[in-house]
Amino acid sequence: MRILLIEDEPEMASVLKTALERQDIIVDHAATLAEAMARLGYHDAVVLDRRLPDGDGLTLIPRLRALHLDVPVIALTALSVLDDRVAGLDAGADDYMVKPFATVELVARLNALHRRSFTTRANQTVVGRLTYDFRHREALVEDQALELPRRQRLVLETLIHRPGRTIMRSTLEEAVYALDDEIGSNALDAHISRLRRKLDDVAAGIEIRAIRNLGYLLRAAS
Ligand code: CA
Repeated sequence: MRILLIEDEPEMASVLKTALERQDIIVDHAATLAEAMARLGYHDAVVLDRRLPDGDGLTLIPRLRALHLDVPVIALTALSVLDDRVAGLDAGADDYMVKPFATVELVARLNALHRRSFTTRANQTVVGRLTYDFRHREALVEDQALELPRRQRLVLETLIHRPGRTIMRSTLEEAVYALDDEIGSNALDAHISRLRRKLDDVAAGIEIRAIRNLGYLLRAAS
């Protein structure tokens, strides 16, 4: 899961980021509404503080909808008054948390939203003979789980999320490396070639094509 965290207090942002990353959640952080707009991309959820230096966080929600970004939003606020909660839900937030809250609860709610979005959308994608289960984060070939090291699985998951489309190199690198270490210039290509070999070994019927200067594309092998 990848989320956009919009929170201006540096300490709060860093505590949340660390706690979420420990749960394998990739966190993009923005400190203002303007920064959030600049960082919009593929996210499974948005965690949105209400009081931001350039305005009420809730004003972001109509802007997301105008861009057809149908991403679930959890609003955060320091205020516990009922009016505030109602305003949040009226503005289109999917869930609401009052500060201070336990980070485990935020993780639980993110997971719940994620599950809900996958039961309303497809939670599996089939390409060639391979089924990718986004909910259990598992690749299956003829009902047999394909064992993949974490980075190869993240590469596969990112590509198979949009089969037949070019996924930018930077998107793949972020998906694989946001959690920790620095990126070696050929590391992504090395993971891709190992993944290709694994897929070929089990005759998954999948082709991963390099798109020059852009990235990679996954599709059923012809
Ligand atoms: Ca704030």
